[in-house]
Amino acid sequence: MEILAIDVGGTKVDMGIVKDGKLIARDRFLNSPSENIVNLISSYIKDKDIDGVGIGVAGQVDYETGTVIFGGNIGWENFPLGRLLQEELNVPVFVENDANIFALGVWKYELGSKPESVLGVTLGTGIGGGFVYEGDLLRSKRGATLEIGHMVIEAEGPACTCGSHGCLESLAGGWALEKWYSERTGEKLTGAQIHERARSGDKEAIFLYQRLGYYLGIACASLANILNPDIIVLGGSISATFPLWQDIYEAEIRRRAVPPVKDTPTVVSTLKEAALLGASALVEQALTR
Ligand SMILES: [Zn+2]
Repeated sequence: MEILAIDVGGTKVDMGIVKDGKLIARDRFLNSPSENIVNLISSYIKDKDIDGVGIGVAGQVDYETGTVIFGGNIGWENFPLGRLLQEELNVPVFVENDANIFALGVWKYELGSKPESVLGVTLGTGIGGGFVYEGDLLRSKRGATLEIGHMVIEAEGPACTCGSHGCLESLAGGWALEKWYSERTGEKLTGAQIHERARSGDKEAIFLYQRLGYYLGIACASLANILNPDIIVLGGSISATFPLWQDIYEAEIRRRAVPPVKDTPTVVSTLKEAALLGASALVEQALTR
């Protein structure tokens, strides 16, 4: 089976061909995806014979119709991506939220389809979640499940991009980390630069990562109490900073989780190309059932 796997972000589109579970081609297109996505995809597979298309999108997706209900960073609102592509390519097209795709890809390709349940947490500019139970994603055709970035952790906490206050993302998202660092030091740095500072001993940066770990620990303890996953797997750019806040995160899990859940392991994903492999897993699952 040959599958076209796609990951659509705010400033780039990654595409690859997955054949029998192996990524055999991969390309990145650095342009605003909103205007020409259908042309871009159809020209990419012009002479290729593919069985289906899987697409991960940062945003809320109606997985039944493939409509992107809201993709804030991409500028899409009620964009019928699945239908447009299916008409153009004449093969089955599946569109899904990118954190769901991550969780499914990890379950299948990193954990060998073994665990009964996996909670995937993507830590980037925003925070996303996906939950796989007995091989299936927990999802809603209304497009929003496991929107853990907007789970309220501090009722009167900082303003969030969603209009609420004290969401996990406003306390532990990449954008919040950059905002805090600049407010506390007067320096505007990227997440990667703040990480570098922390690794070279910058006390302010270290403190901010510990605060991030504290809030993520609170959030994941609540999520573990609700979902009781076999394992929590972290992904996204900020997951690379885990060693800076692992202790405080794990302490919060132990402190707040109910007894059967206290020992839920948390690991950082080592799966390369999780987004493309997850998109492929989505198609494989749909076409082989
Ligand atoms: Zn929010």
